[in-house]
Amino acid sequence: MRTKIHYNIFVLSLALISCNTNRQNKPASLFWYQKQLRILQTVLREPDAIGYDARSVVRYMQASEYNTLVVNAGGIIDFYPDSMEMSRANRFLAGRDLLEEITAACKKENIRVIARIDFRGVEEERYKKHPHWFAINSDGSPKIYTYTTPVFYAPCYHGYYRNEYAINIIKKILTRYPVDGIWYNSVHCHDNCWCPACKKAFREWSGFEMPQSKNTDNRMLFEDFRKYSAEHYLQTIYKTVKEFGPEKAFVAEIFGMYKSEMMKRTGMGITMASKYMDFLPNVCFITHSHQSIEYNNANYSASIIRYLRSVNPFKQPVILFGSNQSTHRYVAEESQYLRAWVFESIASGGSVWNCLFNGAHPGLMHDRRNACLLKDIIRFMKKNANCFENALPVFNTAIYFSENSSNICGDDKPETDYYFTEVQGWENVLNASHIFYGFINAKGINTETLKSIHTLILPNTVYLSEKEILLITEFVQQGGTLIASGATSLYNNLGQKLDNFALSGLLGVRFNKKVHYGASNFYQKIRIKNNLIENIKDTELLFNLDSVYECKPDAGTIVITTMVPQFNSQPPELAWIEDMETDIPVMSIHKAGKGQVIYFSNLPGRIFYFTQNSDIRCLMVNSVNNKYSGVQITHSNIPATVHTHLIYDSLQKKYILSLVNNTGIAQSSSDKAISINDIQFTLQLPEGIKYHNNLFGDAEVRCMIKHVKLKIRRIDEFYSVALHN
Ligand SMILES: [Zn+2]
Repeated sequence: MRTKIHYNIFVLSLALISCNTNRQNKPASLFWYQKQLRILQTVLREPDAIGYDARSVVRYMQASEYNTLVVNAGGIIDFYPDSMEMSRANRFLAGRDLLEEITAACKKENIRVIARIDFRGVEEERYKKHPHWFAINSDGSPKIYTYTTPVFYAPCYHGYYRNEYAINIIKKILTRYPVDGIWYNSVHCHDNCWCPACKKAFREWSGFEMPQSKNTDNRMLFEDFRKYSAEHYLQTIYKTVKEFGPEKAFVAEIFGMYKSEMMKRTGMGITMASKYMDFLPNVCFITHSHQSIEYNNANYSASIIRYLRSVNPFKQPVILFGSNQSTHRYVAEESQYLRAWVFESIASGGSVWNCLFNGAHPGLMHDRRNACLLKDIIRFMKKNANCFENALPVFNTAIYFSENSSNICGDDKPETDYYFTEVQGWENVLNASHIFYGFINAKGINTETLKSIHTLILPNTVYLSEKEILLITEFVQQGGTLIASGATSLYNNLGQKLDNFALSGLLGVRFNKKVHYGASNFYQKIRIKNNLIENIKDTELLFNLDSVYECKPDAGTIVITTMVPQFNSQPPELAWIEDMETDIPVMSIHKAGKGQVIYFSNLPGRIFYFTQNSDIRCLMVNSVNNKYSGVQITHSNIPATVHTHLIYDSLQKKYILSLVNNTGIAQSSSDKAISINDIQFTLQLPEGIKYHNNLFGDAEVRCMIKHVKLKIRRIDEFYSVALHN
């Protein structure tokens, strides 16, 4: 099987369920939210009601080619008149109904409208009317959010405010207005609640009374209850929306794949939430952190799309982006970075949700610099929707993504995180080396999914269940390449360290129950010269950093590099050790069945994430390329800062190859990307290609048997080509 080149299995599955259909003959049952989404959200503040002109919003939407508007409906502030005791109508409505006006104006022009609701909390005045509708701390005090002004009294997943009350509002909106769906902003509740409704739910769920407080012994119990409560809540709201018809969409605010703290505190993860959403928007801002603005990786938006496709390939993946992490909504986002950010997402087959703007529409903002920034890109999306909307990432190399492992060793701060930095480091290397990759989601792993790939990377995947271990072992036995790092399979599901790797036999090493750390003069010594050391010359030592899990190789395991014990750097006269030799493997290779396993006892991804070290990159790339023969780019002079994407539409049998130029813009405030001239490369595909069609930019494309040769004279921001027969 593995000698034949496979696409992502999801491509095949899509083909199976949609057999005998093509673009001209789309199944009539396809709902609007299953097609390309070009969404604009206007974040309305209360005074935006003054002089609100729905027609000018529609004109902006039309000029910018968006097809869906997300607009404030109700919850914190209602943008329609209402006489209910707990509602708080916008003070500036002056008898108008803005939701009715904007919905009517959009409907007339065939623009979809999603109503935004938000029930994260209420100010003191409303709280005092029905305090028992809201969340209670273990000491009986009300749960208060201090990050809002005024402070908000928070509700909980089981209480009256988020349930009976909110459901009543949702039904009212869907009954009164012809909206196409509901966007539940701030759907999550933080931590636990001791209100009577939550206690009752806990009793029904567990069979015993809720403990009076949280401590280390029952931490997991509360965490599991949060997950249950979050899922129960999403399911309830989803069902409420669906009472109004399958064409009404439900989506909720779910944070990115790299946000483990949010997942732990609220019980809401992407995999679970995706079951109850009609398409998959994911918060995806260029910057992160509330304390200081930090830039995410240039490939972050594409990662989100790849990941969402692994969670559910049949739901539209969408990046939701706004200005400056919402801490500085009033000024424009870095324009060139934002354009590349959106190109990355489109190139990997994603839709967009533009939430950059405060106010009625972008032309009315204090800062209008972003108002027309994406116009040409959104137009390009619309024009080529049929190429992109159902195309899925093509890859033979997959990163295994495990929410369980991220729960154990993931952290939102990179310095103390030992999961996401390892994952993102691998991604950075694959992107810089133009290796097509995707994700396999641990919750969706099965034999079929694994059959579609050649190489599986387990980045510090500390917990693996028995089922996962069986499937991964079978994958290697059948001829797959496994790459694992650090403490992979060294923990149980409670986050406790085991005596040995559960995958020990497959990895070809046994854990020696010792971890070494090194920050300076920490090296690997090359033990053997083979293709895993390719492109490394004139050195016996290689870079190393951070942790090494000391282990003993099994007979038959070939040790490629060994750890050199760490020593101090100062004073330089004394910075040496007598003996650099140890028998502690850092990189090793082991044959198992028809396959091979490459194990790194350090965390190469994490090292690369922080240092971009070329020794580490070389070892990682060599491990992926070892015996690899799938779809790939060869004979290439593409710089590392230009990212390549390949997606495939199985109905039209069409590949879309795209390049995004990030040169000079990543992590700097440069106004423009630096253009790259004379790019040349070969794309190896599993089948012959006869025709090409340049979609964006120009290139000389020569279609040969089983490969395509491309010469791009100049790339400024983006290049894209469709390849088909
Ligand atoms: Zn409660």
